[in-house]
Amino acid sequence: MLEHCLSPRIIFAYRDFVAVPKSRQEQPDPMLKTTIAGSLPKPEWLAEPKKLWPAWRGAGAELERAKRDATLLWLKEQEDAGIDIVTDGEQSRQHFVHGFLEFVDGIDFSRKVKMGIRNNRYDAMVPVVTSELRLKGRVHQTEARLLKSHTSKRRKITLPGPMTIVDTIADEHYGDKVKLAMAFAALLNQEARALEKDGVDVIQFDEPAFNVYMDDVKRWGIDALHRAIQGLKCTTCVHICYGYGIQANVDWKKTLGVEWRQYEEIFPALAKSKLDQVSLECIHSHVPVELLRLLKGKDVLVGVIDVASDQIETPAEVADTIRSALKYVPAKHFYACTNCGMAPMDREVAVAKLRALAAGAALARKSLGKRPKKQGRTTISGRKRKRGRKA
Ligand code: ZN
Repeated sequence: MLEHCLSPRIIFAYRDFVAVPKSRQEQPDPMLKTTIAGSLPKPEWLAEPKKLWPAWRGAGAELERAKRDATLLWLKEQEDAGIDIVTDGEQSRQHFVHGFLEFVDGIDFSRKVKMGIRNNRYDAMVPVVTSELRLKGRVHQTEARLLKSHTSKRRKITLPGPMTIVDTIADEHYGDKVKLAMAFAALLNQEARALEKDGVDVIQFDEPAFNVYMDDVKRWGIDALHRAIQGLKCTTCVHICYGYGIQANVDWKKTLGVEWRQYEEIFPALAKSKLDQVSLECIHSHVPVELLRLLKGKDVLVGVIDVASDQIETPAEVADTIRSALKYVPAKHFYACTNCGMAPMDREVAVAKLRALAAGAALARKSLGKRPKKQGRTTISGRKRKRGRKA
């Protein structure tokens, strides 16, 4: 609106003013940085709330404007909460896999087939690959550029991982899972390279399928990720979780036993991989926290916020979880994160959880600073120890 009332020269200056955030050099580089797995709830004026696959409210230019507004809204919320590495909150995509597939030629979306996904954990109606895959154009350029012009924080964009895509689509063309995964990996690489040029600092691939097909991860899953990150100079990350807090996942988790040891099978291979960071689930999970030791040398994004519960963690609880994981991950490699995306959650709950995440990390950072002093390592409270067995 403002631009309509101003002369061209002033418009130019005004655009420059809003497009150049403060220098990144001005930002302190704290230990125990904070970030999120990626997604945040969509406001009710953008899409149906509290749904993993919500219908958009608008269409055409109106919808594009609403996506942009929602992205900026969440950027501000992340900044205000004190999150160090921010995302677009995945406001422009309906679903974390299909948000990418929409931009791929060679897929027939008009013909959906029923497929058991994540090793038949649940059935989904999935589209079919019918010819050679090609990108139609840029996928997340708008979001990446929005982040660049509106924040001086480090910026992360997430993409679905090749193995998870292959597990969420039917194939009538390639006839081989690995060939199909490598074809998708090449397209992901094309978009990732462009995102890097758009000023994205971290590109994360979401691979919940890594916790399901552990042998395939070692056989070809990591190779496919290597194809996806080929030639990138920015930070690369893989997010491996036990899924969103939806009922099918909650039920599945009940079948995994007292200790969830899936990470144990894949972490040694990931530690040898070319990826810089691994994002994982920790708080309130049954993952033995000592498994984090297997990621030696990698940055580890430790889930200290539960996305399957509306209960807001206290900063003390977040700090306790951080301290218990710090025994296995050095502070310089430690990032406090959410267990998974917060897309299906209540918006107010997500905001409160962002704040708890940053406040808890700040608390843990303080006690980290105290370590060299006389009192030595921060002790773990009895309450924490009890939960620590689960975490
Ligand atoms: Zn996840």
